Amino acid sequence: MSPAAAYDVVVAGGGPAGCAAALTLVRAGHTVLLADAGTGPPKAGEALVSAARLLLSDLGVAEQVLATGHLPCYGNLSAWGSPELYAVDSLHDPYGHGWHLDRPLFDRRLRAATRAAGADVAEHTAVRRPVRRPDGTWRIALCARAGGERAVRCRWVVDATGRGAAVAVRSGARRRTTDRLTALHLTLDPAPRASPDGRSLVESDRDGWWYTAPLPSGHRLVAYFTDPDLSDPDLPGAAVTGDERFRDRLLATRHVSHRVRPHGLTTLRPPRRAAAHSAHLDRVHGDGWTAAGDAAAAFDPLSSQGILTALYTGLSAGHAVDAHLHGDRTALAAYAAQVATARTAYAREHRAVHARETRWPDRPFWSRRHLNQQA
Ligand SMILES: Cc1cc2nc3c(=O)[nH]c(=O)nc-3n(C[C@H](O)[C@H](O)[C@H](O)COP(=O)(O)OP(=O)(O)OC[C@H]3O[C@@H](n4cnc5c(N)ncnc54)[C@H](O)[C@@H]3O)c2cc1C
Repeated sequence: MSPAAAYDVVVAGGGPAGCAAALTLVRAGHTVLLADAGTGPPKAGEALVSAARLLLSDLGVAEQVLATGHLPCYGNLSAWGSPELYAVDSLHDPYGHGWHLDRPLFDRRLRAATRAAGADVAEHTAVRRPVRRPDGTWRIALCARAGGERAVRCRWVVDATGRGAAVAVRSGARRRTTDRLTALHLTLDPAPRASPDGRSLVESDRDGWWYTAPLPSGHRLVAYFTDPDLSDPDLPGAAVTGDERFRDRLLATRHVSHRVRPHGLTTLRPPRRAAAHSAHLDRVHGDGWTAAGDAAAAFDPLSSQGILTALYTGLSAGHAVDAHLHGDRTALAAYAAQVATARTAYAREHRAVHARETRWPDRPFWSRRHLNQQA
């Protein structure tokens, strides 16, 4: 039997966090395997904030990842705390415009850049059954979607597996969730005539909030964010998240409905569901592992900070693991403090934003979030 291939670091998960960590580690001279299972709900219609360009530049990939294929996003509109639309224009943003991403393309290009930098990249391959060995190394099973399994050894594992935090949880870390936010989302067919307004739009209602944005393909994303246990006041006993309620509620919106009507709503498909709650690990590193991205801390999509934070924590985790493998015993604690600071800033902003919506104080979606203000 041939011996298991050996790496300094295996990065589990090939989203923005995993690629940022792998790029940082391989450029620091480590041998790196990045394995991406390619599982999880499809990601469509995600916006990248302008400040992400800085992190992508630090990673040396901004041009190749952002040059083509995405739509510039010149601002956001929101009807939040009032029925009137309020505009935030990227003209006033020191970093310029953001992007409506072709998210699969964005991730593919990040993985291609990681491979070009010298990492081994295993696509459609899951990291399974990590076992810590007595000599302090890991033995890991790599399971390819096409079938087949092989073992690799490594000194360190970066868990960038997204909300599942597969390696960290298996290693005993606990995932803490602070709410149950769920997304119901749908991609609408291209409209006969493209809208000239490329801004994203957020509109709150009594049981949550709506989001719509154009996609680079000409399609449009529309999503409703709510809690899965809420019942519909117009239809006692019915769940707010019922597929049939989605269309009625969508058409009842004041602003989002105008954006989506040109895309045709007669044959609306049922929306897909995705977990969108805030969550974090009780510790972001342990014996032989470090977590980054959503695995470490996942944010409410209202913040638009998910990909930015994944890039930031991936890059920071990469530097911390590099320093640790070179004998710096403070590096991982410093990384944990960085993640904690990001989480604190996020929680403060989350509370402030929800406090600005005061129109439905008695509806559970809002009272829960206002209650959190006192926490
Ligand atoms: C509905 C919704 C809308 C959102 N909109 C936005 C937005 O507009 N802007 C924004 O910035 N953020 C948004 N986010 C958040 C954003 O999607 C995440 O924060 C971001 O994708 C996190 O990146 P990541 O690399 O940590 O994890 P992911 O992107 O989830 O990548 C994890 C990868 O790990 C792989 N994987 C899982 N298990 C294993 C395993 N065992 N072995 C190997 N690989 C594995 C998965 O297949 C996946 O490819 C949204 C989230 C939701 C739910």
